[in-house]
Amino acid sequence: MKDYIKDIPVDNKSYEDILLEIKDAIKNNQKYTIFSINPKKIMHSMQDEKLKKGLINASAHIPDGMLVVKKCKYINKRVTGVDLMNKICENCHDINGKIFFYGAKKEVVEKLNVVLKEKYPNITISGYIDGYSDSDKVINAINKSKANILFVAMGSPKQELWVIDNIDNLNVNVIMGVGGSFDVLSGTKKRAPKFFTKLNLEWLYRMVCEPKRMKELPLYLKFLFTVKRDK
Ligand code: UDP
Repeated sequence: MKDYIKDIPVDNKSYEDILLEIKDAIKNNQKYTIFSINPKKIMHSMQDEKLKKGLINASAHIPDGMLVVKKCKYINKRVTGVDLMNKICENCHDINGKIFFYGAKKEVVEKLNVVLKEKYPNITISGYIDGYSDSDKVINAINKSKANILFVAMGSPKQELWVIDNIDNLNVNVIMGVGGSFDVLSGTKKRAPKFFTKLNLEWLYRMVCEPKRMKELPLYLKFLFTVKRDK
Protein backbone atom coordinates (compact mmCIF):
# COMPACT_ATOMS: atom_id res chain seq x y z
CA MET A 1 0.00 0.00 0.00
CA LYS A 2 1.26 3.47 -0.78
CA ASP A 3 0.47 6.74 0.95
CA TYR A 4 -0.51 10.03 -0.64
CA ILE A 5 0.25 13.51 0.66
CA LYS A 6 -1.41 16.38 -1.23
CA ASP A 7 -1.88 13.99 -4.19
CA ILE A 8 1.82 13.03 -4.25
CA PRO A 9 2.37 9.27 -3.87
CA VAL A 10 4.84 7.95 -1.30
CA ASP A 11 5.83 4.35 -2.07
CA ASN A 12 6.20 1.55 0.41
CA LYS A 13 9.23 0.04 -1.34
CA SER A 14 12.50 -1.11 0.17
CA TYR A 15 15.96 -0.40 -1.28
CA GLU A 16 16.00 -4.01 -2.54
CA ASP A 17 12.55 -3.63 -4.26
CA ILE A 18 13.79 -0.56 -6.11
CA LEU A 19 17.07 -2.21 -7.13
CA LEU A 20 15.10 -5.11 -8.65
CA GLU A 21 12.80 -2.69 -10.51
CA ILE A 22 15.84 -0.82 -11.84
CA LYS A 23 17.44 -4.05 -13.01
CA ASP A 24 14.21 -4.96 -14.87
CA ALA A 25 13.89 -1.49 -16.42
CA ILE A 26 17.44 -1.77 -17.80
CA LYS A 27 16.87 -5.34 -19.02
CA ASN A 28 13.61 -4.40 -20.77
CA ASN A 29 14.90 -1.02 -22.01
CA GLN A 30 12.19 0.92 -20.15
CA LYS A 31 12.22 4.35 -18.51
CA TYR A 32 12.23 4.43 -14.72
CA THR A 33 12.31 7.71 -12.79
CA ILE A 34 12.96 8.06 -9.07
CA PHE A 35 12.15 11.17 -7.04
CA SER A 36 12.59 11.49 -3.32
CA ILE A 37 9.60 12.95 -1.56
CA ASN A 38 10.28 15.52 1.14
CA PRO A 39 8.39 18.50 2.61
CA LYS A 40 10.07 20.95 0.24
CA LYS A 41 8.90 19.10 -2.87
CA ILE A 42 5.37 18.59 -1.61
CA MET A 43 5.02 22.28 -0.72
CA HIS A 44 6.43 23.36 -4.11
CA SER A 45 4.14 20.95 -5.96
CA MET A 46 1.10 22.65 -4.37
CA GLN A 47 2.03 25.81 -6.30
CA ASP A 48 3.35 24.22 -9.49
CA GLU A 49 1.13 21.96 -11.64
CA LYS A 50 4.01 20.83 -13.90
CA LEU A 51 6.07 19.72 -10.91
CA LYS A 52 3.07 18.01 -9.34
CA LYS A 53 2.25 16.05 -12.52
CA GLY A 54 5.90 15.11 -12.99
CA LEU A 55 6.20 13.85 -9.42
CA ILE A 56 2.96 11.87 -9.70
CA ASN A 57 4.10 10.25 -12.97
CA ALA A 58 7.44 9.03 -11.58
CA SER A 59 8.10 5.30 -11.22
CA ALA A 60 9.32 5.47 -7.62
CA HIS A 61 8.58 8.01 -4.87
CA ILE A 62 10.88 7.41 -1.95
CA PRO A 63 10.05 8.68 1.56
CA ASP A 64 13.24 10.66 2.04
CA GLY A 65 12.23 12.99 4.87
CA MET A 66 11.26 11.83 8.36
CA LEU A 67 8.62 14.56 8.41
CA VAL A 68 7.07 12.85 5.37
CA VAL A 69 7.18 9.42 7.05
CA LYS A 70 5.41 10.92 10.08
CA LYS A 71 2.46 11.86 7.85
CA CYS A 72 2.21 8.37 6.32
CA LYS A 73 -0.12 5.59 7.38
CA TYR A 74 1.61 2.59 5.78
CA ILE A 75 5.23 3.71 5.77
CA ASN A 76 7.32 3.78 8.91
CA LYS A 77 10.88 3.97 7.57
CA ARG A 78 12.84 6.40 5.46
CA VAL A 79 14.38 5.41 2.15
CA THR A 80 16.90 8.16 1.59
CA GLY A 81 18.10 9.44 -1.76
CA VAL A 82 21.74 9.38 -0.73
CA ASP A 83 21.56 5.77 0.53
CA LEU A 84 19.66 4.61 -2.56
CA MET A 85 22.19 6.28 -4.85
CA ASN A 86 25.01 4.63 -2.90
CA LYS A 87 23.33 1.19 -3.22
CA ILE A 88 22.79 1.64 -6.96
CA CYS A 89 26.51 2.43 -7.34
CA GLU A 90 27.45 -0.53 -5.16
CA ASN A 91 25.26 -2.89 -7.23
CA CYS A 92 26.09 -1.29 -10.57
CA HIS A 93 27.64 -4.44 -12.04
CA ASP A 94 24.78 -6.71 -10.93
CA ILE A 95 22.10 -4.48 -12.47
CA ASN A 96 24.13 -3.90 -15.66
CA GLY A 97 24.33 -0.20 -14.94
CA LYS A 98 26.36 2.41 -16.80
CA ILE A 99 26.25 5.57 -14.77
CA PHE A 100 26.32 9.28 -15.62
CA PHE A 101 26.54 12.00 -12.96
CA TYR A 102 25.03 15.40 -13.75
CA GLY A 103 25.17 18.14 -11.15
CA ALA A 104 27.09 19.89 -8.36
CA LYS A 105 30.24 21.96 -8.77
CA LYS A 106 32.93 20.81 -11.21
CA GLU A 107 35.42 19.87 -8.47
CA VAL A 108 32.72 17.96 -6.56
CA VAL A 109 31.53 15.81 -9.48
CA GLU A 110 35.17 15.11 -10.45
CA LYS A 111 35.93 14.01 -6.90
CA LEU A 112 32.77 11.87 -6.83
CA ASN A 113 33.99 10.00 -9.92
CA VAL A 114 37.33 9.24 -8.25
CA VAL A 115 35.91 8.36 -4.82
CA LEU A 116 33.25 5.98 -6.17
CA LYS A 117 35.68 4.19 -8.50
CA GLU A 118 37.92 3.56 -5.52
CA LYS A 119 35.05 2.46 -3.29
CA TYR A 120 33.34 0.24 -5.91
CA PRO A 121 35.92 -1.14 -8.37
CA ASN A 122 33.10 -2.85 -10.33
CA ILE A 123 31.24 0.40 -11.05
CA THR A 124 30.91 1.58 -14.66
CA ILE A 125 30.92 5.38 -14.88
CA SER A 126 30.18 6.45 -18.45
CA GLY A 127 30.58 10.15 -17.81
CA TYR A 128 29.94 13.18 -15.63
CA ILE A 129 29.31 16.89 -15.99
CA ASP A 130 28.83 19.68 -13.45
CA GLY A 131 25.46 21.27 -12.74
CA TYR A 132 26.33 24.69 -14.08
CA SER A 133 26.78 23.67 -17.74
CA ASP A 134 24.54 24.54 -20.66
CA SER A 135 21.54 22.14 -20.80
CA ASP A 136 21.92 21.25 -24.54
CA LYS A 137 25.57 20.37 -24.03
CA VAL A 138 24.55 18.20 -21.09
CA ILE A 139 21.94 16.22 -23.02
CA ASN A 140 24.41 15.54 -25.84
CA ALA A 141 27.09 14.41 -23.39
CA ILE A 142 24.67 12.05 -21.60
CA ASN A 143 23.36 10.47 -24.81
CA LYS A 144 26.83 10.16 -26.32
CA SER A 145 28.10 8.40 -23.19
CA LYS A 146 25.62 5.50 -23.68
CA ALA A 147 24.89 5.55 -19.97
CA ASN A 148 21.69 3.85 -18.81
CA ILE A 149 21.50 5.37 -15.30
CA LEU A 150 21.51 9.12 -14.76
CA PHE A 151 21.84 10.85 -11.39
CA VAL A 152 20.81 14.52 -11.39
CA ALA A 153 22.01 16.67 -8.48
CA MET A 154 20.95 20.30 -8.80
CA GLY A 155 18.74 20.77 -5.74
CA SER A 156 14.95 20.84 -5.63
CA PRO A 157 12.77 21.58 -7.44
CA LYS A 158 15.29 22.60 -10.13
CA GLN A 159 16.49 19.04 -10.81
CA GLU A 160 12.96 17.59 -10.96
CA LEU A 161 11.84 20.29 -13.42
CA TRP A 162 14.93 19.63 -15.56
CA VAL A 163 14.13 15.91 -15.63
CA ILE A 164 10.46 16.55 -16.44
CA ASP A 165 11.40 18.91 -19.30
CA ASN A 166 14.08 16.68 -20.80
CA ILE A 167 13.06 13.09 -20.12
CA ASP A 168 11.94 12.44 -23.71
CA ASN A 169 15.32 13.55 -25.09
CA LEU A 170 17.39 11.42 -22.73
CA ASN A 171 18.38 7.94 -23.95
CA VAL A 172 18.79 6.49 -20.48
CA ASN A 173 16.62 4.00 -18.61
CA VAL A 174 16.91 5.16 -15.02
CA ILE A 175 16.83 8.80 -13.90
CA MET A 176 17.08 9.79 -10.28
CA GLY A 177 17.08 13.25 -8.67
CA VAL A 178 19.55 13.21 -5.78
CA GLY A 179 19.85 16.77 -4.41
CA GLY A 180 23.00 17.22 -2.37
CA SER A 181 24.10 13.56 -2.60
CA PHE A 182 27.15 14.28 -4.81
CA ASP A 183 28.45 16.60 -2.08
CA VAL A 184 27.97 13.89 0.55
CA LEU A 185 29.19 10.82 -1.38
CA SER A 186 32.26 12.68 -2.68
CA GLY A 187 33.14 13.50 0.93
CA THR A 188 32.78 17.25 0.36
CA LYS A 189 29.97 17.63 2.91
CA LYS A 190 29.23 15.62 6.04
CA ARG A 191 25.90 13.94 6.73
CA ALA A 192 24.09 14.89 9.92
CA PRO A 193 25.45 13.07 13.00
CA LYS A 194 23.39 10.11 14.32
CA PHE A 195 22.12 12.24 17.21
CA PHE A 196 20.21 14.50 14.78
CA THR A 197 18.99 11.63 12.59
CA LYS A 198 17.69 9.72 15.62
CA LEU A 199 15.65 12.73 16.73
CA ASN A 200 14.41 13.32 13.16
CA LEU A 201 16.20 16.63 13.11
CA GLU A 202 18.43 16.19 10.07
CA TRP A 203 16.75 19.21 8.43
CA LEU A 204 17.59 21.32 11.49
CA TYR A 205 21.23 20.25 11.33
CA ARG A 206 21.40 21.29 7.67
CA MET A 207 19.91 24.67 8.58
CA VAL A 208 22.47 25.23 11.31
CA CYS A 209 25.39 24.23 9.04
CA GLU A 210 24.08 26.24 6.09
CA PRO A 211 22.28 29.30 7.49
CA LYS A 212 21.02 30.23 4.02
CA ARG A 213 18.63 27.30 4.45
CA MET A 214 16.91 29.21 7.29
CA LYS A 215 14.65 30.74 4.67
CA GLU A 216 13.16 27.25 4.21
CA LEU A 217 12.05 27.09 7.86
CA PRO A 218 8.54 28.53 7.30
CA LEU A 219 8.00 25.95 4.57
CA TYR A 220 8.92 23.10 6.94
CA LEU A 221 6.73 24.51 9.71
CA LYS A 222 3.80 24.95 7.34
CA PHE A 223 4.24 21.36 6.18
CA LEU A 224 4.45 20.09 9.76
CA PHE A 225 1.38 21.90 11.04
CA THR A 226 -0.97 22.21 8.07
CA VAL A 227 -0.39 19.35 5.66
CA LYS A 228 -2.27 16.11 6.24
CA ARG A 229 -1.99 12.74 4.57
CA ASP A 230 -4.75 12.14 1.97
CA LYS A 231 -7.50 9.80 3.16
N1 UDP B 1 23.50 22.79 -7.96
C1 UDP B 1 23.82 22.62 -9.30
N2 UDP B 1 23.37 23.55 -10.19
C2 UDP B 1 22.59 24.62 -9.82
C3 UDP B 1 22.24 24.74 -8.45
C4 UDP B 1 22.71 23.80 -7.54
O1 UDP B 1 24.50 21.69 -9.67
O2 UDP B 1 22.22 25.40 -10.68
C5 UDP B 1 24.00 21.78 -7.02
C6 UDP B 1 24.81 22.32 -5.85
O3 UDP B 1 26.15 22.55 -6.25
C7 UDP B 1 24.65 21.20 -4.84
C8 UDP B 1 23.24 20.69 -5.13
O4 UDP B 1 22.89 21.16 -6.41
O5 UDP B 1 25.58 20.18 -5.10
C9 UDP B 1 22.20 21.24 -4.17
O6 UDP B 1 22.07 20.42 -3.16
P1 UDP B 1 21.06 20.71 -1.97
O7 UDP B 1 21.56 19.97 -0.80
O8 UDP B 1 20.82 22.18 -1.82
O9 UDP B 1 19.75 20.04 -2.53
P2 UDP B 1 18.31 19.92 -1.89
O10 UDP B 1 18.40 20.36 -0.44
O11 UDP B 1 17.43 20.82 -2.69
O12 UDP B 1 17.97 18.50 -2.09
